[in-house]
Amino acid sequence: MSSPILFYSTNLSSELVAFSEALLKGQAPDKGLYLPEQMPQIDLTELAAFKELPYHEIAYRVTRKFLKGQIDDENLLRIVKEAYNYPVPLEHVYDRNYVLRLDQGPTASFKDFAARMMSRLMQFYLAKEKRSLLILTATSGDTGSAVANAFYGLDNVKVVILFPKTEVTDRQRKQMTTLGKNVHVLALDAKFDDCQALVKKAFSDHNLDYLSLSSANSINIGRLIPQTIYYFYAYARLCKEPGEEIIFSVPSGNFGDMMGGIFAMKMGLPVKKFVIATNENDEFPKFLYSGIYNKIEPSLNCISSAMNVGHPSNLARLIALYGGLMDETGTIHQPADMEKMRKEIYSFSINDEKTRQTIANAYQQFNLLLEPHGAVGWAGLIQYFTDHPEDAAGDRLAVSLETAHPAKFPQEIMKILSIDPALPPALEGLEEKAEVCLNISNEYSDFKAYLQKTFE
Ligand SMILES: *Cc1c(COP(=O)(O)O)cnc(C)c1O
Repeated sequence: MSSPILFYSTNLSSELVAFSEALLKGQAPDKGLYLPEQMPQIDLTELAAFKELPYHEIAYRVTRKFLKGQIDDENLLRIVKEAYNYPVPLEHVYDRNYVLRLDQGPTASFKDFAARMMSRLMQFYLAKEKRSLLILTATSGDTGSAVANAFYGLDNVKVVILFPKTEVTDRQRKQMTTLGKNVHVLALDAKFDDCQALVKKAFSDHNLDYLSLSSANSINIGRLIPQTIYYFYAYARLCKEPGEEIIFSVPSGNFGDMMGGIFAMKMGLPVKKFVIATNENDEFPKFLYSGIYNKIEPSLNCISSAMNVGHPSNLARLIALYGGLMDETGTIHQPADMEKMRKEIYSFSINDEKTRQTIANAYQQFNLLLEPHGAVGWAGLIQYFTDHPEDAAGDRLAVSLETAHPAKFPQEIMKILSIDPALPPALEGLEEKAEVCLNISNEYSDFKAYLQKTFE
C-alpha cells in the first residue's frame, strides 16, 4: 500500500497537509499555493480504457488517485455522478482539429466543472468533521455564478460573493443574485481587483478567525484537480492510438484551467504542446520568452472579460512545477527551467480586434460559433500553426477549449455576427426572477462590519 499524497506550499514554509486540509484551507498559511508532492500516474493502458467510459467514470478514476485514503470509493462515485450530469461535447472543426465545449453546466462556463466537484468534496469533509465554513469569493462574473450555484442549498457552507457592479453582464449578475438561501451577494462600486483585495484582507484578519473563512477561487487545489479530467476525456475520445501526441489550446486568465492541463501532462498524458492564449493582458507570453516577469496593474479591460488578469495567481504553481519559486507578490526567488517550459508551452496574446475577427471567421469558414474567450483560444491555435507549419499538417490532433456559452455574451455576438445565440436551458427564465443583492462601499471596515453582523 502506498501512502496518501500530501500537499506542499509553493512558498515552501508551511507543513505538508492531506488533501482535505488543503481543500478546506484554500491558501497555505505561508500565503503559498498547495501542490501535490507527487503526481499520480496514468499509464497508456489505463488511458486507452477511458475511450468508452462516461465522463463521470473518468472523473472517478482520475480524482481517486489524488484522494487515495481521503475518501471512500462509494462517496467519491456519488459525488462525481452528481457533479457531472451534463454533456461535454467535442465539436469537429476541420482535419483533426476540435473544440471542446465546456459550457453545458448549470451556469454555462467551464467554472462549473471545478465548482461542482469542489463544493461536494467540501461538504463531505465538513459533515465528517462537524465543521462549517464561510466562503468568500471575488468574481469578475463566471466564478461567482458557478460557485453560487455549486454551493447553493448545501448545509455547513455559506457563501459571500463580491462583484464589481459595472463589470459583469446582466445575465452574469442574475445568475448570482436570484438564488438566495446560503448565497449572499455584495455589489461594489469598484474594480475586480478591489473586491479581491477586500477578500484577501479578510482572510488575514485574525478578528474574523471565528468565521472559518475559506476561498473558492482557483488558488484552491480543490479546483485544479477536477480541471485535469476533461483533458484526459478529450484525448481518450479522439486519439487514434494511445501514445499519439495532442496539442491543447487554453484561453487563460488566472491559469487555473492551464494548470489542470499541466497536471494531466505530468500524470502521463501525451501532450505535444499547450498553447496558452491570453488577451491583451500579456504578462505571461512576455515572461515565457524573456524570463522577466512584470505584472500588469491595473489589468486591461478586454471583451474576454473573465481573462482580465494582470497577475495570474497560478503562475506560482507553474513556476514551482518547473523547479522555480515565485511568491504571492510575483517576485521570483528561484528561476524556473524556462527552456523546458518553452518546449512544452507556447503562448501568444490576442487583442480584441483579432478576437472579433476570429469570431467572424470561425463562423463563416466552419460554422463554428465561439464567444470571446473561446475565440482567444482558437486564434492562439491558428497562430501556433502559422509559427509551426510542421504541426499544421492534416494528421495532427489538436483541441481548443471553449470556456463559456456564446449566449452569455449576446451583445458582442450580435454585433459581430448579427445572430442572437439560443439560450441553453441553464440560462432560461433568469429574466423574471427576483434579485437580492446588497450594495456596499469598498472600505474594508464596511465589509468587515457586514460580515460580523450577518454571520454572528
Ligand atoms: C475563468 C474563465 C477563463 C479563464 O480561466 P483561468 O483558469 O482563470 O485561466 C476563461 N474563460 C472563461 C469563460 C472563464 O470564465
